[in-house]
Amino acid sequence: MLVVYSPQYAIDIGSHVFPTTKYRRVYERVLAASSGSGEGASRSSPLRILEPHPASWDDLARVHSREYLARTQSGELPIAELAQLEIPWSPDVVEGFRLMTGGTLTAARHASAGDAPVVFHVGGGFHHAFPNHGEGFCLFNDVAVAIRVMLHEGAISSAAVIDLDVHHGNGTAFTFADDSRVFTFSMHQQNNYPAVKPRGSLDIGLLDGIDDEPYLRKLDGALTRVFAHRHDIVFYLAGADPYEDDQLGGLALTKGGLRARDRAVLRTCAEHRTPVVVVLAGGYARNLEDTVDIHFATFDEACSIEQQR
Ligand SMILES: [Zn+2]
Repeated sequence: MLVVYSPQYAIDIGSHVFPTTKYRRVYERVLAASSGSGEGASRSSPLRILEPHPASWDDLARVHSREYLARTQSGELPIAELAQLEIPWSPDVVEGFRLMTGGTLTAARHASAGDAPVVFHVGGGFHHAFPNHGEGFCLFNDVAVAIRVMLHEGAISSAAVIDLDVHHGNGTAFTFADDSRVFTFSMHQQNNYPAVKPRGSLDIGLLDGIDDEPYLRKLDGALTRVFAHRHDIVFYLAGADPYEDDQLGGLALTKGGLRARDRAVLRTCAEHRTPVVVVLAGGYARNLEDTVDIHFATFDEACSIEQQR
């Protein structure tokens, strides 16, 4: 399994509901499993770790406006923008997000080159970032940047985003609203942040409290629609926040249900021979260990799919 990770992902944002320590914790579980001390499919999966470089400012500018990037770089973000971002600004925060964006791009390059059917990024999924501002803990939209850079380089001519974070992928939908090369699918809790949900290619807003069975049924139908088109690459935002004990989510999926979700997505990509980049996106369980378990299960399912391919 190809894994992208950097210890620098543990960005210091002070005491916050967004646990940036989860990246290291998930990575440690990945290492432990692959060294044989864990369980599941990942136990027998040889690991190759890739350390990312920060995305360049030119790469970021494929999605973000030069004005926004200049404000971000200098720290001259207006109070209203900082309030929307909901995390503090610091040079380390900027560098951390540049690095994670570079991580998603690295994962995408390897996936599209056919180096592995699934590339697992222990980071990324900042789908609330818009071209001209950040929002909801998301400074740069890593997936949107990776897609735009790869399209620009001619490495891909189409892409799909499968966004199963509990929150709608507003920044991603907005960015690609007029770009027919990119299919954006988001399935999320309708009655949750963000209040305004720009239309993507396929949006499914779920009622509060939906649990495993109806969720998986809807996902099944949606995946058929996503793969009615051919895509050169899929970006899967495997958010852990549809979990029943999440602090920012209002759905009721169990860990078993989330694992079945991951299996459904990854198996469908495999059936269509489409390379996948997995990014973690959100996860705010009351108990951090639950968030780590859910993200690790996604990795384990990816290993299982890889062994079958
Ligand atoms: Zn979320």
